[in-house]
Amino acid sequence: MREVAESIELASTLPELNVLPEEYVRLLGYPRGFVLEGRALDLAEQARDWYAENGRPWFYARQAETFELAGDSIYIDGLPFVSKRLESTLRQAEAHSVILVAVGAGPEAEEEARRRWADEKPDEYFFLEMYASAVVEHLTTATGARLCDWAEQHEMAVLPHYSPGYPEWDVAEQPQLLELMKRTRREPFPSCVDALDSGMLRPRKTLLAVFGLTHHTERLRRLTGLVPCESCSFGPCQYRRAPYRRAPRSNTEQVTARMTVLDEDAEYSVNRKALKRWAEERLSMDIHQDGSLDAVFRYDGTTCTNMGRPLTFHYNVKLGPRSEGYPIREQHCAPVPGDTGHTFMCQYIEDPTRLMGSIDREKPLHGERLNAVLSWRRELSGAGCFCDASSRNHKWGLVFETIHYALVQRELAQEAEER
Ligand code: SF4
Repeated sequence: MREVAESIELASTLPELNVLPEEYVRLLGYPRGFVLEGRALDLAEQARDWYAENGRPWFYARQAETFELAGDSIYIDGLPFVSKRLESTLRQAEAHSVILVAVGAGPEAEEEARRRWADEKPDEYFFLEMYASAVVEHLTTATGARLCDWAEQHEMAVLPHYSPGYPEWDVAEQPQLLELMKRTRREPFPSCVDALDSGMLRPRKTLLAVFGLTHHTERLRRLTGLVPCESCSFGPCQYRRAPYRRAPRSNTEQVTARMTVLDEDAEYSVNRKALKRWAEERLSMDIHQDGSLDAVFRYDGTTCTNMGRPLTFHYNVKLGPRSEGYPIREQHCAPVPGDTGHTFMCQYIEDPTRLMGSIDREKPLHGERLNAVLSWRRELSGAGCFCDASSRNHKWGLVFETIHYALVQRELAQEAEER
């Protein structure tokens, strides 16, 4: 076990903020080079202004007192942590110490975002949430840059940071890491942060990270994977060893961004087994490069009277990109070409123009985000036909829930692949 001679401890509340617009745009889910305009620009500026006035960002960094790699464990100040990826980085770089870093956007933005959601302002909510995420990223970069500056002056180099919840580091170790961080030396811990039993932090917009420290700077030149610069957006750095290439977002950020668009723990009106079957058997989706999509849902039912004639309808749905929350842009419902079953519905027999006009005209949730289907209070109806409005609404609800379910499953699968 090694005690370290050199040592650093930094803490600040209200550090200077310089969230780069391109980083914010990326977190909002737009492609590289995208320029915000119109309503999106207004919402972004509103979030930035609100945070400038009310946000309380902070950071804390301290070098560990002791550090040791033993077997699969990384001992920091005597406490064991297990992360294969971090351990391998530290070993390859022959790290002699680590620096513990905590940064946070403060609880204020989170509380305000919650209020906006409760006030049914999902766009305002989303832009503020993502701005707070951008603040956390910025604080991590800025703190890293301070550490790099200090390390270079002591002929050392800082390694890429790593956090619980990243691949190969169980988030369950986060409470222990937080406890360690709070063992401050001269500086008090700058903010009130708690860890839940699940390992998640409260406030959510908080990041704990470990940065390795090495004297072997020449190793970094040979092993580029040990250089943090490729994922560091700090522009004015004089020590940069590699050009900045946008690194993939941390898992936590990816999950946060996804879940604010599609609620993973959605309470659907029908059971998930049925949704799974419908997603596989009845739904086809064509997802475009910008994340927008065209979906077709095939509905097979029977008329309630007239001897239960089979009928088939197509629901065509066009959703905007996920970066905008999958807004429902277009929707249309009609019998498939050649279907005759619908002509046996009671209301069709009574007045075909009126019934088919209603089916054609009705566009529930039009313009809303897909997630809105989860809070859409509609009458449940078991009727297989389209004769009354409640049965038509019920079917639209099933269509949107199936698309929602399919997209959540798709995103979870992508996330698992990225791990
Ligand atoms: S560019 Fe590299 S050396 Fe400079 S602050 Fe970022 S990580 Fe450190």
